[in-house]
Amino acid sequence: MRLPPHLSVRNGHLHIGAHDTVALARRYGTPLYVTDEERVRANYREYRDALQARYPRVKVLFAAKANGNPAILRALALEGAGADVFSAGELLLALRAGMAPGDLLFNGSSKSPSDLALAVEKGVRVSVDSLDELRQLDRAATEAGREVEIAFRVNPALEVPTHPKIATGLATSKFGIPHGQVPDAYRAALSCRSVVPTGIHCHIGSQILEVKPFAEAAAVMTRLAAAVTDLGVPLTFIDLGGGLGIPYHRTTDPAPTPGDYAAEVIPVFLQGVRDAGISPELWVEPGRYLVGDSTVLLARVNSVKEAHARFVNVDAGFNLLVRPVMYDAYHEIMVANRADSPAAQSSSIAGPICETGDLLARDRALPRVQAGDLIAVLDAGAYGFAMASQYNQRCRCPEVLVRGKEEALMRRGETLDDLLATAEEPPWQHRG
Ligand SMILES: *Cc1c(COP(=O)(O)O)cnc(C)c1O
Repeated sequence: MRLPPHLSVRNGHLHIGAHDTVALARRYGTPLYVTDEERVRANYREYRDALQARYPRVKVLFAAKANGNPAILRALALEGAGADVFSAGELLLALRAGMAPGDLLFNGSSKSPSDLALAVEKGVRVSVDSLDELRQLDRAATEAGREVEIAFRVNPALEVPTHPKIATGLATSKFGIPHGQVPDAYRAALSCRSVVPTGIHCHIGSQILEVKPFAEAAAVMTRLAAAVTDLGVPLTFIDLGGGLGIPYHRTTDPAPTPGDYAAEVIPVFLQGVRDAGISPELWVEPGRYLVGDSTVLLARVNSVKEAHARFVNVDAGFNLLVRPVMYDAYHEIMVANRADSPAAQSSSIAGPICETGDLLARDRALPRVQAGDLIAVLDAGAYGFAMASQYNQRCRCPEVLVRGKEEALMRRGETLDDLLATAEEPPWQHRG
């Protein structure tokens, strides 16, 4: 298995950066998310540099939904990243992490009146997803006596090779203005009082392991940009979204790099903007690529059961990592405390949740495992903790950040008090 450079096996133990995962699990308990900050920063720099080498006017917005931990947002803010935010919470956390309002884009197909008012108040650009939203945003900005810059989220109607639940640019997707309605949408925006259309935005889907579809999107989007420019819209940015995948199957998946992406996309983009007679900024919104491989989820083996399959029962399930259940996603599994033992048995890794489907992995060739061993789930940094829940009244686990020789909690584990923190007691249950 090809391990990313921040993961290594030393003395039989899986290490992340300079840190022994077995020691971290002992110190902080399990389950435990562990992230290498330097890996996140390096992934960001790789992405930015690959694009800027071919076109200097590039802005990289981290898709904050992939990993909303404030320390991750902070690390990326320190590198100069902006963020694609999908909620008031993500917007406020990105600002709190030190990102500039002008480096954010507020996305989403269903924004509330208070979401729109917040974007106006904070001076954050909005990716508008419908004409209804456009009218509401114009009213909110007019009432506040401010102008707000927008892009339209456009549905480029592209088929992309990924799981249907994360293909977002299909003609049938809930996201974006249908292709044919785009000129009318910009005309409507031009006639608004307080909305200023300056961008155009798409996002074709997630976990895409080929770069061709991104080049197709660049072609569609620059053609639309030309049409929109002809209407008199002063476009200053074209946002191609995120979606570059990572090789979850570490032995077999292709591993396209931001360099591959840039080599395919930028020439198409350059030709397109030249044809349109404009020189806008190019914005991109990687989520998974920046954080996915930075993180391992550590889980302790509670018991092993020989049934129709060999079940390795661990203390983390879809409450902490829902991707295998929700997207049939594959994550590499290692036995962190016997990481150089040969594979001996086929095992399925089962979580502690009261659902038949609660498996983190099926039928994997693993070293012989027993209760007390430590399982590492690789590539858990994107849509991992971010999608965790308290289902079964399980506390969400701590998250540790390592950098060089240092290590620290970036989120403590929850306790029973946290499970009760928002509960209220209806008064009639205590009367009499
Ligand atoms: C989810 C999302 C992204 C990030 O997708 P990744 O596959 O994690 O890179 C970017 N932009 C938008 C609008 C999204 O919804």
